[in-house]
Amino acid sequence: MVLRIGVDDTDSLRGMCTTFLATELVRDLTKTWDLIGFPRLVRLNPNIPWKTRGNGAICVRIGHGRGRPHVVGWIDGSEVRAFPHGEGIEDSHTVADRVAALVERWSRFEDPGTNPGFVVLRAAPPEHLYWTGVRSVLTMDEVLRGIGPGALVRPYKNGRGVIGAVAATAWRPHDRTYEILTYRREGAWGTHRLLSRESVIQMDRKFPSTFNNYDYEAGRIVLAPRTPCPVLFGIRGDDSKLLRPAMEMIRGEVPDRWLILETNQGTDDHVVRERPSAPHRTVRFRGQVRSLPWTIRGGHVLFSVDSHTVAAYEPSKGFRGIVRGLVPGDTVEIVGAVRPDWGTVNLEKLRVDSLAPVTRKVGNPVCPQCMRRAKSRGRGAGFRCEICRRHFLNSSAEAIPVPRTLAPGWYEPPAGSRRHLSLPLKRWENGSSPIRRRSQSSG
Ligand SMILES: [Zn+2]
Repeated sequence: MVLRIGVDDTDSLRGMCTTFLATELVRDLTKTWDLIGFPRLVRLNPNIPWKTRGNGAICVRIGHGRGRPHVVGWIDGSEVRAFPHGEGIEDSHTVADRVAALVERWSRFEDPGTNPGFVVLRAAPPEHLYWTGVRSVLTMDEVLRGIGPGALVRPYKNGRGVIGAVAATAWRPHDRTYEILTYRREGAWGTHRLLSRESVIQMDRKFPSTFNNYDYEAGRIVLAPRTPCPVLFGIRGDDSKLLRPAMEMIRGEVPDRWLILETNQGTDDHVVRERPSAPHRTVRFRGQVRSLPWTIRGGHVLFSVDSHTVAAYEPSKGFRGIVRGLVPGDTVEIVGAVRPDWGTVNLEKLRVDSLAPVTRKVGNPVCPQCMRRAKSRGRGAGFRCEICRRHFLNSSAEAIPVPRTLAPGWYEPPAGSRRHLSLPLKRWENGSSPIRRRSQSSG
């Protein structure tokens, strides 16, 4: 069997990045063995409170390669190749020692929130460990029960990284995307990144199968991080073959190395079809708008759907304008994360299903007998004809329909404020997600 190496929780909010460790693993391990398939970046539940920056774990598969290899990276001036199939390595202890040396060199042990862990497995653990890890909260007991005999488990500090490491090795892609990650030479880490905005826009337009490159609303490059980590930029897309030419269009600082990773980013794998109940989950449900949206301090916009409060936070910028166009009676479908504190649903995507009619009163009702307009009896109290004393309901006032600013359909925040796992609408529009939009819309 091919060996599966899973690593998690090595990074910190102040720098480093688990994917850089992936390049170091690939660089070192391919001196002796072959890479089987793409290295993988597996994002796990973004709602758990102790997550590292992007809650991303990595999985690298190695063995003796079979079949025709393809280029997946460029490190130390030469191409990195991966094989479609492979045969096993007997000595997993030697592999584990090599992995340990790299994890120990590159992990941020000094960060109190960083608890690295890795595993070396001869077989993929049960798939449910991935689904629990991406949608819910996985415990150490569950993962240790799930991995088979002969598994090598190396925890550091409290060892929590082992959980994500196992979840990453349990992923069998149903839907998948790719990301080409480019890295800076070590001397440049922490310094300002110089990238040409025009080249990013040109690339984004030339390669529609890529996504989350540029925020046109804010005029901001999204494909480069704003943290001091070693990543120069990353381009996400559906076609792994187009990522290298896309990368070569970006002008500015020249990458020192690059690697293409297979990922669950942009798949909505974290979304569960249920109404909000338990915290730390991203849910998808349909309901009716019950209130006009209101804005709270900080610029966040809230509204009620059935008995739930849904929030579009300030960083989602123009998306809040869509939300502000909702009125009671509209039916919507909500995708959002349930916050642990108040049970508020933090909106990730919104579908306007049907729009309630909105009218504006233009005059009091006309009494059909006296042909005169009735007089108002005060707010909500209806109208009365002053001549024949006949009573009229509020709803009998003369009204005209008001055009709505919203149209039915899906809406999402701008590229810069989406979650790694959130499926961008562009993937449905391109038809690149195997889960078609129509089936996504039903139920
Ligand atoms: Zn009358």
